[in-house]
Amino acid sequence: MAVSRFRSLSLLILACLMAQPAVARRQPVRLPQSAPVPEMLAERTPQPDIASQTETPTPEPRPDDAPQPASPPSQAPVPEAKPPEKQPSESKPPESKPPESKPDEPEKAEDKRPTPQPDPRSGMVAAEKMPAEEEACRKRLRAMGVAFEDEPAQHDAAAGCSIPYPVIVTSLGKPVELAPKAELNCAMAETLARFMADVVQPAAREIMGSEVAGVTHASAYVCRPRHNGAKMSEHAFGNALDIASFTLKDKSSVEVGLAPAEKQGKFLDRIRKAACGPFKTVLGPGSDADHETHLHLDLAPRRNGSTFCQ
Ligand SMILES: [Zn+2]
Repeated sequence: MAVSRFRSLSLLILACLMAQPAVARRQPVRLPQSAPVPEMLAERTPQPDIASQTETPTPEPRPDDAPQPASPPSQAPVPEAKPPEKQPSESKPPESKPPESKPDEPEKAEDKRPTPQPDPRSGMVAAEKMPAEEEACRKRLRAMGVAFEDEPAQHDAAAGCSIPYPVIVTSLGKPVELAPKAELNCAMAETLARFMADVVQPAAREIMGSEVAGVTHASAYVCRPRHNGAKMSEHAFGNALDIASFTLKDKSSVEVGLAPAEKQGKFLDRIRKAACGPFKTVLGPGSDADHETHLHLDLAPRRNGSTFCQ
């Protein structure tokens, strides 16, 4: 018994001794296995990615495409902004127009300024002798059959209005009566007469099958600022006419409005598009709430003779 017991004990000890070295061998093996880490890091730090990410911030800075929001604050004259009034008539959200070109009238939502900016033309007064260019203009009016009379100068320095050599026009060429009689500057009268002969009459013959015999206007010379108050209106210089309707020889008429009949609409579209160029500002139905019933045409002086047509 004792022998067998000793034997089993020694076997046990032997087993333990043999097991230890095995354990000891395993431990050192673990250490080397943790080495491969660097590969992962290399993949995560691709420098090109970082570079590309830095590009994303750049798009934010936008050029002055839409200076309108910025301009009002810079001119900050008046705090009495009334944004709600404009929204109803905001028929023109696409105000992506060129910054410089300023619509003649109410377009812009800048009703904030009640005091119109001074216009150099407000100081124009009549000279004792009519300038040669004014006389030449009148000659051309007569040659086109325009019926007109000279009128004493209109000048209101306080209001900022002036028309030193006005003409009262009652016809824009032989068959075309202008009613009521319109007070305009000569250049505007001449441009209107040419427009009638070169654009309106041909369009009337082709589309309406008749000629225009009369034009009814809503306003010519009017001493007032624009509807938004930012500047003086071109009407304040006799430099604009609001056409409300055309009367044809066949006694029919074409009213300027938001929903003309098909043929009338085609006629109005034709002349409205053609007006942009001869006239520097062209506004009408669809431009804004103030021009739903007439076609506003003017010769607003702008840099480079640019136009604003809407
Ligand atoms: Zn007008």
